[in-house]
Amino acid sequence: MKTIAIIAAGGQGKRMGRPKQFLKIAGKPMLWWSLFAFQGCEAIDGIIVVVNKDDMLKVKRFKFSKLLAVVAGGKERQDSVYNGLQALPADTGIVAIHDGARPLVTIDVINQAVCAAKQGGAVVVGVPVRDTIKQMTNDKCQMSNEGKNIIGKTLDRSQLWAAQTPQVFKKEILLKAYKKGYNKSLATDDAVLVEKMGVPVKMVMGYYDNIKITTPEDLAVAKTLLKKRGV
Ligand code: C5P
Repeated sequence: MKTIAIIAAGGQGKRMGRPKQFLKIAGKPMLWWSLFAFQGCEAIDGIIVVVNKDDMLKVKRFKFSKLLAVVAGGKERQDSVYNGLQALPADTGIVAIHDGARPLVTIDVINQAVCAAKQGGAVVVGVPVRDTIKQMTNDKCQMSNEGKNIIGKTLDRSQLWAAQTPQVFKKEILLKAYKKGYNKSLATDDAVLVEKMGVPVKMVMGYYDNIKITTPEDLAVAKTLLKKRGV
């Protein structure tokens, strides 16, 4: 059975102010770096990329030999992943889902996550949080300093991890989770749908460099980190 990666890159880059997938980092488009890592990982047999309709040709032009399909994205991340799931080959056993906005993913971490998912069935890569996390009383936490922004409680940091990608699952588990949970509430990652079914999801230690590029500041950090790696 095959292990297939789905790279979700169908976002609009609202917090960047423009679509970010093709912004250059160390001379290559951001999305190229994720494909480069999955292409180089022996555990991965094929790659499906989900992007905005207008960008599909650009991805095909990357010419990675493991690229199986380029699929149009949807309104939310979970819609894009759902579209990617429809393109899985019939003989897929394991699915690794990755945010195209995490260009610093490494072959090593992909390998570890795939290996753990083959045993346990459901895996998330993440890191223990370093900051103290406050839960606000407001229904929606304000991104600015306006509004009341009153702290409701302080969470126990020793139990908190930040979820990253890849998130890797046995195909049957993931398909069932999407069938059950899809459209019921907004899922900002894939594991939450699996968790809701009561299936244990294992956390695999990632690394802090595996940042998600969301703002122009993140882009500057990613450029520095890639330079440090000597690429
Ligand atoms: O918006 P968020 O930061 O959660 O996006 C995480 C990843 O999901 C990004 O790589 C983004 O391109 C992707 N995404 C997507 N389709 C959407 C929204 C986000 O593939 N509609």
